[in-house]
Amino acid sequence: MADKPRLLVAGNWKMNGSREESQALARELLDLVVAEGATECDMLVCPPAILIGSVGAIVRDTAIALGAQDCHADAAGAHTGDVSATMIADAGCAYVIVGHSERRADHGEDVALVRAKAEAALDAGLTPIICVGETLAERDAGRAVEVVLGQLAGSLPDAATADNMVLAYEPIWAIGTGRTPTGDDIAEIHDALRAELAGRISGAESMRILYGGSVKPDNAAEILAIQNVNGALVGGASLKAEDFWGICQSCA
Ligand code: PEP
Repeated sequence: MADKPRLLVAGNWKMNGSREESQALARELLDLVVAEGATECDMLVCPPAILIGSVGAIVRDTAIALGAQDCHADAAGAHTGDVSATMIADAGCAYVIVGHSERRADHGEDVALVRAKAEAALDAGLTPIICVGETLAERDAGRAVEVVLGQLAGSLPDAATADNMVLAYEPIWAIGTGRTPTGDDIAEIHDALRAELAGRISGAESMRILYGGSVKPDNAAEILAIQNVNGALVGGASLKAEDFWGICQSCA
């Protein structure tokens, strides 16, 4: 039986912050790590693409890993305004988020594209964080499990292993709203994702499945204690060093 994975707390800074503000946020976080010591989790920050270099200059060779929020599915080519996984790796990132619901909604990304992006990330040596999650209408219709399992089936690369990718369950209606599902609802989805993974890859129990959606310092401990929750993907609360640190400290 594979070991339970070490928790991962990932901050998705989205389209926020100037260069100065982002560097200040990274420095503040690093100061907390240095002053208070290591946490029981891996820490990751995902700044906007244009700020990866300047934030990377601060977190390089520290306990804080660097990631991107999206990548193109191709390694290079005529794709104006896009950034490839190869470029992201070259800029010092170890992770890239793919299939975030805001990308699916704002850019019409479907599961096939998310899968192609995850494959590109693996080819570039990055760990993709593949996001899945249902809308409120889908949850109210009793279809939450079916929807996320469908997204998983459509977006999981053939080359996925327990170690080379991360899954994030993010109910769309909980993102940025202050609303969170009950512990039982989170457990139901994470258990279903784990069982589905077990049918597809070996050692599935050691793949990290993060929960995302209004995670804050005051609800993190409860969420992170749920079986099959192996960390958090954090939006709003990752923009304040103390809040993000508080969530990391909730990892036991
Ligand atoms: C997110 O967008 O990935 C997210 C979880 O946002 P928030 O924490 O603000 O709900």
